[in-house]
Amino acid sequence: MIFEDCYIFTPGPVKMSEEIMEIGAKQTPYFRNAEFSDVTFACEKGLLEMVNAPEGSRVVFLTASGTAGMESVVMNLLSKDDNALVVNGGGFGGRFVDICAVHDISHTDFKVSNTNLADIEVLAPKEDYSTLIVNAHETSVGHLYDLNAMGAYAKKNNMLYIVDAISMLVTDPLDMQESGIDVVIASSQKGLALPPGLTMVILAPKAMEQVQDIQSLYFNYKSYLSNGERGQTPYTPAVTIMLQLEARLAQIKRRGGVEQSIASAKEIARYFREAIKGLPLKTYTPYMPNAMTTLTPTDGKSAMDIVNDLEDGYKVMVCPNGGEQRDIVFRVSHMGEMTKEYTDVLIDAMYAYYKIDRV
Ligand SMILES: *Cc1c(COP(=O)(O)O)cnc(C)c1O
Repeated sequence: MIFEDCYIFTPGPVKMSEEIMEIGAKQTPYFRNAEFSDVTFACEKGLLEMVNAPEGSRVVFLTASGTAGMESVVMNLLSKDDNALVVNGGGFGGRFVDICAVHDISHTDFKVSNTNLADIEVLAPKEDYSTLIVNAHETSVGHLYDLNAMGAYAKKNNMLYIVDAISMLVTDPLDMQESGIDVVIASSQKGLALPPGLTMVILAPKAMEQVQDIQSLYFNYKSYLSNGERGQTPYTPAVTIMLQLEARLAQIKRRGGVEQSIASAKEIARYFREAIKGLPLKTYTPYMPNAMTTLTPTDGKSAMDIVNDLEDGYKVMVCPNGGEQRDIVFRVSHMGEMTKEYTDVLIDAMYAYYKIDRV
């Protein structure tokens, strides 16, 4: 299949802009020099600005997918003395639980559903925790949590507050200072709309104090932080994706800043949700991010069949769920280079598929 012929609405990779794709078509440059250090510095500065990181925060750039960002945070910041409260509202929360288990970190699997955790104070188990870990947007079901409420809870209980923001940065608001977040995990292939392969971990000063010596060469934050002081990484970075990240951060700024990107994603999501009201589908959760809409068929059709038929018949790619949810839900991403025009292709395809006239 030629993917360029497809309309893409999957939650990572997402639709990329021409400007970013053109950088990907060029020769990868050598990177152990001052020119590339400036690229790293620009990326770090842009990211810190985007999340309103507190003074003195730093970014670790890892050449890996987002899960390495998640795992490396647990490896570098948590030890046997910690006790983590891990919010688990789906597949990605479950992944943090697995990571804590693999690394022998004592933790509670805090299973949640039907709440955005505005009431975490009431819902959280009454144990003594050192750390709160959450995926701001649980991408497996399209569910967004209340970052401020969790931050207030973490602050009150003196916990380190770790947020995987991979699938909501750029499309939904995140402010490290306002929410009291100590660690933000980002990844290239979601809202940043770059190719996969780069994960970024933003550490507030409080988190940097907790960085420890660990049994890993590649994932050792201390060496990333010291190399980062001269704009370098200890090992070869995803050079081209870093160049694309620099351009993407500049693009976001040029278009009116991250507030503008969030407003645009919000409007696209609203437009899509309004437009499909004539179809036998309902939204899966009341706590939807701007990044994505999760839908459940109300006419007994299999969600998996819908996904396959849309791709085969109309060249539009939405995202199925696995396991038990295979037939119950499918997901539509609004991340990346989305316009109403582009979204109309999907909406029209859905109406055509159901043989219903779009009004
Ligand atoms: C996509 C995603 C990740 C990272 O997954 P990778 O496949 O390792 O890039 C992590 N957390 C969330 C919430 C995600 O949506």
